[in-house]
Amino acid sequence: MVNFFGLSVEELGRELATGDPRVFRVGQVLRWVYRMGIDEFSEMTDLPVGLREHLGARLTLNPMKTEDTRVAGDGTVKFLYALEDGAGIESVLIPDDGHFTLCISTQTGCSMGCLFCETGRAGGGRNLTAGEILSQVVYGFRYLGERLMLRNLVFMGMGEPMKNLGALLPALEMILDQRVLDFSPRRVTVSTCGWVPGIDALGRAGLDVNLAVSLNAADDATRSRLMPVNRTYPIGQVLDAVRRFPLKKGRRVTFEYVLIDGVNDRPRDARGLAALLAGIPAKVNLIPCNTTTSSLKGSPEGRARIFQEILVEKGIVATMRASRGDEIMAACGQLKNQPTEKRYDRKNHKRETA
Ligand code: SF4
Repeated sequence: MVNFFGLSVEELGRELATGDPRVFRVGQVLRWVYRMGIDEFSEMTDLPVGLREHLGARLTLNPMKTEDTRVAGDGTVKFLYALEDGAGIESVLIPDDGHFTLCISTQTGCSMGCLFCETGRAGGGRNLTAGEILSQVVYGFRYLGERLMLRNLVFMGMGEPMKNLGALLPALEMILDQRVLDFSPRRVTVSTCGWVPGIDALGRAGLDVNLAVSLNAADDATRSRLMPVNRTYPIGQVLDAVRRFPLKKGRRVTFEYVLIDGVNDRPRDARGLAALLAGIPAKVNLIPCNTTTSSLKGSPEGRARIFQEILVEKGIVATMRASRGDEIMAACGQLKNQPTEKRYDRKNHKRETA
């Protein structure tokens, strides 16, 4: 069976034409799938029965199996999906002012080896297909019951998105296409560990999505220790690529900075970071390091606050991100395709059960 979500609008049109040559059928099917979250062709009641059977015999709207769903006390939901070949991926729904942000994976593991990241520590995997990327978005809003409950998409899950642009770019086109998922580019963020050719390629694609860079240090020695990619693309090259990135007026590039106790959280690191970002339309997301299997610990709250204050004093927009979903290993840097231990119980409405 072919993954429906791997088809572009044009490919879907060709597929439908083999069962019914009328063009308006494309819009009908797209609406059922991408607006209403219908997961069976048989439920598309305004399509002829013959066409529904034709599609149902060739395409699947359920290309992944939801192996586990865990809900944290703060409402964060982590999904573990089994892909067709048995590989596992996770995506995370994060409550956000009455709506949700979905954190999406682009690979089944990650070879970039960032020290603070559970996915990186678990090692490399394969690239997801465009259909597997898009499936996570559709499964996310199916769970919520309504496409509009999903407000933001962030490519910050398992894997380095810029190493899988061959699938990410067509998936983004479907996400932004008004006939398909119709997300505003302002609501979509692609995050990178600093893979310079990917930053340039994303800029050339002209999709106007947001860029986030996981920086985590103000000097190359510390960054190379935390993030091996820095040995290939040191900070200066990453920031040059950011300066080249086409940015719409009023938009900023987000720099993520995981605060690690005694490693990158000194006042002089904050001053160094402010100096690096001078002249770049930037905002800094400070993230206290979450629990992983590494020995790294998050900065004490007081030191984290001083770090933030120094940035703000230097004119840098800096927010402290509250860690979400820590207890279910759904927070930043904690994703890996481990089986989860607790299951979602629909009767108990989003409460974690033993
Ligand atoms: S932080 Fe991102 S790029 Fe680094 S190892 Fe983890 S998933 Fe890979």
